[in-house]
Amino acid sequence: MLTGTKLRAFRKSLLAWFRQFQRDLPWRRDRDAYRVWLSEIMLQQTRVAAVIPYYERFLEHFPTVSALAEAPTEEVLRFWSGLGYYSRARNLQRAAQQIVAKHAGEFPEDQENALALPGIGAYTAAAILSIAFDQGHAVLDGNVARVLARLFAIRGDLREPARWQRLQRSADELLERKAPGDWNQAMMELGATICTPRAPQCLLCPVAKHCAARKQGIQEEIPEKRKKRTPVSVTLAAAVFVNPQGDTVLLPPPRTGSEKVGADHVPTLVSKMWHFPTIAVTGDPRTELERHLKSECALDKKRSSSGMLSLVALGRVRHSVTYRQITICAFRIPVAKLPLLDGAKAVALNELASVPISNLTRKIGRAALA
Ligand code: SF4
Repeated sequence: MLTGTKLRAFRKSLLAWFRQFQRDLPWRRDRDAYRVWLSEIMLQQTRVAAVIPYYERFLEHFPTVSALAEAPTEEVLRFWSGLGYYSRARNLQRAAQQIVAKHAGEFPEDQENALALPGIGAYTAAAILSIAFDQGHAVLDGNVARVLARLFAIRGDLREPARWQRLQRSADELLERKAPGDWNQAMMELGATICTPRAPQCLLCPVAKHCAARKQGIQEEIPEKRKKRTPVSVTLAAAVFVNPQGDTVLLPPPRTGSEKVGADHVPTLVSKMWHFPTIAVTGDPRTELERHLKSECALDKKRSSSGMLSLVALGRVRHSVTYRQITICAFRIPVAKLPLLDGAKAVALNELASVPISNLTRKIGRAALA
């Protein structure tokens, strides 16, 4: 661990580097807690470049915590549409509603109340409280953990609980308490731009002389790779009904836990937003989808002009969700009348964006239009 003069020199070098070279990012232009909070939630699992346009559009539409709390959830999801991990948006709005109800619309300044909000864990609370209110909480996420592990040449699985606690203690000890907001951002910035997962740029690193991994020449061996789960392949078949007016049918977001991959109905992993009728298949997608639509959706002579379904293949869309590799075979199905599916809504195929949908649904919709 660094102490005394070395610790002071380390802090000085890192802060000076951050203040001179930090990227100009929209959420760094002011320290309003709502903006910091929104950026931290959007940045979870998502690249900075992808977040920027969403962040700006979202803020323009929901400029305050109250505006977010009062908006219809569908509208919030629509502005999140394409960013993925939609539970983040739902939690964000639930937290906004709690902030309005319990904290007069102001983000709580104490850790306990911050942690009680939906979607706020230790990392996010530390980031918001330090950046917005200059409170002395050190952040620890994957980026910061990697930097610390290299600085102190810590080997092994960094997410292993005892090792993670040790990293948190190191983060706490390094924290510059005179400027915790800048300090946390400097650590994150170092991990994002210099001390990157692959090929860290040690020659440009402001704290290279303090780095144990670099001294030992093992910076690229840390962190050690985690064992990956064996990938599982899943095939889905999606139905894009289209009537003569160019309308299609979308199903509502599945209720969490109500449907499973491998069952006959829409797996929750295909989309937690509005989506085309989709089933998991094990054999020929066309045959299985046709059989499913005829039996379960009651799509018979009363609802289709000819009683026959004509499935036009739209190609395959590939998608990965954690260890699952998903192939979706989509079919365009011209019908005289749209089928009456439970909870479904009719939407113009060329205006799918008017409801909250995922990138996957958007991609299938585009293929059907083409
Ligand atoms: S010297 Fe290299 S490995 Fe060490 S902290 Fe800097 S960039 Fe990371």
